[in-house]
Amino acid sequence: MTELNIGVLSIQGDVSENVSSTQDALKEFGEKGTVSTVKTPEQIAKVDGLIIPGGESTMIGQLSLVNGSLKKIKEKIEEGMPVLGICAGLILLSKDAKDRVIGEIDQPLLDLLDVQVERNSFGRQKDSFETEIAMDSINIPKFNGIFIRAPSIIEVGEKVEIISKFNEKIVAVKQDNMLGTAFHPELSSDISIHRYFVNMIKQAKRD
Ligand code: GLN
Repeated sequence: MTELNIGVLSIQGDVSENVSSTQDALKEFGEKGTVSTVKTPEQIAKVDGLIIPGGESTMIGQLSLVNGSLKKIKEKIEEGMPVLGICAGLILLSKDAKDRVIGEIDQPLLDLLDVQVERNSFGRQKDSFETEIAMDSINIPKFNGIFIRAPSIIEVGEKVEIISKFNEKIVAVKQDNMLGTAFHPELSSDISIHRYFVNMIKQAKRD
């Protein structure tokens, strides 16, 4: 059995929760592997899959631009490495992002996921909420979505599969090896999305 080496980008944001959810998912599969926090281009070069956690997208983008990891992440995703972008991570994956109130913002983006994202689409911190959502196309019919200053996706390109909507807003998408959620799966006790993502990495490693 090949060992999976899964990284969680640890520049800023919800890192440790993603490490434990991914470890639990690996355990459930009986899969050998390691989950490590990664920050530098050298560390990123070694992973088979990467989670970009929620946090503050401007901060994560700028710091990873400066230390060279943004470029490395982009290269790896283009080579086929599976990536899960959560909230701020989804924003970073996108081709275009604007803030609901401020409008266009100059922030570093990976420019890979063919979507336009609206930051803070559901309001500010005090408007954070939890709600049940469905992701039938990836066999997760029920999931407790935790939305914290969450973005939504307001435009999608042809190759993008819409996985979930809440109140008419798109909140989860997939495009090839990229999976993005506007909510925080690592904050819920349900590890189905992490399990799905580990499976994407397994498949990619097999190909
Ligand atoms: N609002 C944050 C941003 O735009 C994202 C919030 C989150 O990741 N929980 O970067």
